Amino acid sequence: MKAELFPEDIRPYISPSPKGDLGYDCLACGARFQPDRLYYACPKCGGLLTLKDNQFNRLREKPGSFWRRLFDYRRLCNSQATAGVFAFHEFVAPLIPLEDIVYLGEAHTPVVAAPPALAKEVGAEFYVKLDGLNPSASFKDRGMAAALSYLKYLTRTKGYSQVMAVCASTGDTSAAAALYSAALGGPVKSVVLLPKGRVTPQQLSQPLGSGATVFELPGVFDDCMKVVEYLSDRYQVALLNSKNPWRILGQESYAYEIAQQFDYELGDLALIVPVGNAGNVTAILSGLLKFHAAGLIDRLPKIVAVQSERANPVFLYFSQALANRRYVPVTVQPSVAQAAMIGDPVSFPRLVALVDQYEKTAGWSSFFAVEVTEEAIMEGMIKANRRGLPVCTQGGEGLAGLKAALAKGLITPSDRAIIDSTAHALKFMDFQNAYFEGRLAQEYGVPTRSELTNRPLELEVKGPKPDGQNPLSPSDRQKFVETTALEIAKQLGLKPTAD
Ligand SMILES: *Cc1c(COP(=O)(O)O)cnc(C)c1O
Ligand SMILES: [Zn+2]
Repeated sequence: MKAELFPEDIRPYISPSPKGDLGYDCLACGARFQPDRLYYACPKCGGLLTLKDNQFNRLREKPGSFWRRLFDYRRLCNSQATAGVFAFHEFVAPLIPLEDIVYLGEAHTPVVAAPPALAKEVGAEFYVKLDGLNPSASFKDRGMAAALSYLKYLTRTKGYSQVMAVCASTGDTSAAAALYSAALGGPVKSVVLLPKGRVTPQQLSQPLGSGATVFELPGVFDDCMKVVEYLSDRYQVALLNSKNPWRILGQESYAYEIAQQFDYELGDLALIVPVGNAGNVTAILSGLLKFHAAGLIDRLPKIVAVQSERANPVFLYFSQALANRRYVPVTVQPSVAQAAMIGDPVSFPRLVALVDQYEKTAGWSSFFAVEVTEEAIMEGMIKANRRGLPVCTQGGEGLAGLKAALAKGLITPSDRAIIDSTAHALKFMDFQNAYFEGRLAQEYGVPTRSELTNRPLELEVKGPKPDGQNPLSPSDRQKFVETTALEIAKQLGLKPTAD
């Protein structure tokens, strides 16, 4: 819609300009730093940083109804800069001028109601938000859109000639980082560290295709992360892991979109989130709190964090009694929810602080953590796919988490659950193939149930058949078509048409 067609009270706000007073706040020592540099850890004490807008209260000068109207109208505006995560510019990173925004089609992902047969099987109606429909096929694009827009702004205003953008990854962070770095180009070069054999072939091909420098290291994600932290402490690199607080700001858009997609009425929602490094769940909590503080929503939904029992430090922490919770990193075991296979989540201090704030704001116990088995994760993925809802293994983990939360009474069938389908199913199809072929038992402890498998059928074709190179004669081709069709009709029990 053209600018002049928006209602008069909305028109001046459709295209946002830089505002606010964004700065880095240290969670450990409370120090504050200006956003004119990229920090990932407090320069004073090494603590984890968050980005806070000291002029957030200016957003409260307008009623929630104003912001709801503005954001709904902004959806009709055909501007690239405000089409993605910066549709919520005022809440995401109001510092960044529109000219610096890198938009590759991320965010605005659909929410889909589970097909009835699947809902029946789970015992509750629920929705899935298809965040695998992002440009690099995972939610990580939301964070990279914000982080790389900030990098673009920084390199332009500071005139940097070279920026090494590095990250460790379980596969999707590197795909997103490499893609957005490639699109930004110029001085920004992408470098990714991956645990060898612990990302899927699709995820390995993504950063290679984007032209990133890819290092495969022995070990698991946590080992790669330590190397990247060491590098970023001692060398001039731009860290793109979710320790980078700009990523969290972009990922908050997931919560903003849910609010918009449910007409800002979230009181009976339960958001189910698979958790690895805890960046995503942190961003969702933070986004919901910001919308609540500015009056866009008046009730906060329940949050259910889901982990595999093979990579469960967040679950272990929250399953202890409130008064004496202790955080202990775990050594992960191989998990089919490989993108969340993290034993020492970087965002853990952020998560604890936000959960405390969230429950105080909600006024009741509204954050839960559950753990699920590898078998439940695989069956979640396979059953969802079978009922018309393609999800990845982390989506399967979400479905297993929904079932676990229902079984424990943490949520009830009257809560409207929304599973975060964090990546596209096709990135993780090798796990489904391995299940079908019975190859998951040894490493992941997941036995194959034959009723859930499916394999291609081969036909025994007698007579002439094509060899894929030399064409058959017309009569041989006719024979091949007849004998093959007859065999298929026999196997399917097809009845001939009447005449
Ligand atoms: C990164 C990722 C997760 C875990 O998110 P965190 O922010 O690390 O907790 C879950 N699913 C997929 C597909 C991912 O790529
Ligand atoms: Zn500090």
